[in-house]
Amino acid sequence: MDATTTTPATKVATVKLLIGGEFVESKTSEWRDVVNPATQEVLARVPFATQAEVDAAVACAQEAFKTWRKTAIGARARIFLKYQQLIREHMGELAAILTAEQGKTLPDAEGDVFRGLEVVEHAAGIGNLQLGELANNVANGVDTYTLLQPLGVCAGITPFNFPAMIPLWMFPMAIVTGNTFVLKPSEQDPMVTMRLCELAIEAGIPPGVLNVVHGGEAVVNAICDHKNIKAISFVGSTKVGTHVYNRASLAGKRVQCMMGAKNHAIVMPDAHKDQSLNALAGASFGAAGQRCMAVSTAVLVGDARKWIPDLVEKAKSLKVGAGTEKGVDVGPLVSCAAFDRVTALIERGVAEGATLELDGRKPNVPGYEKGNFVGPTIFSGVKPGMSIYDQEIFGPVLCLMDAESIDEAIEIINANPNGNGTAIFTQSGAAARRFQEDIDVGQVGINVPIPVPVPMFSFTGSRASKLGDLGPYGKQVVLFYTQTKTVTARWFDDATAHGLNTTISLK
Ligand code: NAD
Repeated sequence: MDATTTTPATKVATVKLLIGGEFVESKTSEWRDVVNPATQEVLARVPFATQAEVDAAVACAQEAFKTWRKTAIGARARIFLKYQQLIREHMGELAAILTAEQGKTLPDAEGDVFRGLEVVEHAAGIGNLQLGELANNVANGVDTYTLLQPLGVCAGITPFNFPAMIPLWMFPMAIVTGNTFVLKPSEQDPMVTMRLCELAIEAGIPPGVLNVVHGGEAVVNAICDHKNIKAISFVGSTKVGTHVYNRASLAGKRVQCMMGAKNHAIVMPDAHKDQSLNALAGASFGAAGQRCMAVSTAVLVGDARKWIPDLVEKAKSLKVGAGTEKGVDVGPLVSCAAFDRVTALIERGVAEGATLELDGRKPNVPGYEKGNFVGPTIFSGVKPGMSIYDQEIFGPVLCLMDAESIDEAIEIINANPNGNGTAIFTQSGAAARRFQEDIDVGQVGINVPIPVPVPMFSFTGSRASKLGDLGPYGKQVVLFYTQTKTVTARWFDDATAHGLNTTISLK
């Protein structure tokens, strides 16, 4: 059975659970519609799994771990070599599913899949990544070495905004390091995630090694509490991530949470004007601002403040529409609830005294009158204390602030609670270096607006944007998904014979 199949009674497809290698229909009574945000068409129904189904997924993962942990590293790697090929072959189909349920444009949906594909390629190189260390002759005839061994059953909880990339940040690296996995995708857009899971099974991931349960708060809490889950990787909002971190840590798990953002870009007056404004508009309004790395605040330093009219013109030139239409730059927001929240925040921005330089409410999108569209919106004169500054809007709304100097701009950014991503636009190497040294933010861009690190590095974050020590991919995640075992070994022979010794030191 496929991950999504149509139930004859309702004519609406149901999204399946993946348990023990089988795509199965949930027995739950609680379901949610998966809705196309450009048309409000119901694409499928997703179940909120029962406790028994979560338990069954974990039990299958636990059973599969017994053999999977012993599988040769090369055999594990080759599955991901095949998997990356299958993802490439299905790129168009994956992007189409993603756009239908999430809204972003087709080229951007391909980007979403591609950034995940890069992690799959990285997983295929695990032979060079999961390496221990060895110190020869730490004492007479004694060697010390480390083994990086898988933990057991790990789990991942993902957000709606990158339904391909973020699941692919998680399960390939967890599985290739020898763990088994239970994934809980976003209930808003689980279909592309499930197609990726089908392809993973086709690539050769054995039954029980990858499992999927759907749901919301109750299923997430069941994962946090489950005694047989060893580690959880979470990506989503700060509120939910903090809850997951606290609850799962208390239950003795290893946890990493990548969370919310308010990403600032500094524009210095010596920046390359046209390229900086292009980058700013792309990063603020692309994916309708629903990227954790969207630039949602720009701090204009000195004479860069005079560039507001040019920025507004660039924003106005972006085409709002359904993600499936050619030439569209800004798709719909993911849900009616997101639309209501973003438009209410724009209203509050006006009421709280910010200057509305460009109002993206009520864009004209012929043929898609029911879609959740908000066009590029720009506020200037934004100050801390205003709701549009204090909250993560997660929509195509750019807040502009002023600063006299780079010092003042850095101070503004470091005073914001979030530390996910930031960027500076300048032609001065000294200013850029100063920024990289003094800014307290995880991802730092220098004339690069959305610095999502490539998989040789790890995604990170500081302050309210991240809890836990290690990142979700890259070198750090190999440590996250493994237990370091340190072995100190001596093999007796006449040359290394020693007498009886009651001290702690090795001789
Ligand atoms: P969300 O926190 O609402 O949902 C994330 C996951 O948590 C989903 O799987 C959801 O089902 C589950 N969840 C929702 N409410 C819950 C609750 N009360 N208790 C337990 N679990 C719950 O996030 P979202 O709206 O899907 O995604 C957008 C957020 O994710 C933004 O804040 C964005 O900045 C953040 N994000 C961060 C990164 C990063 O790497 N730092 C990347 C992408 C998105």
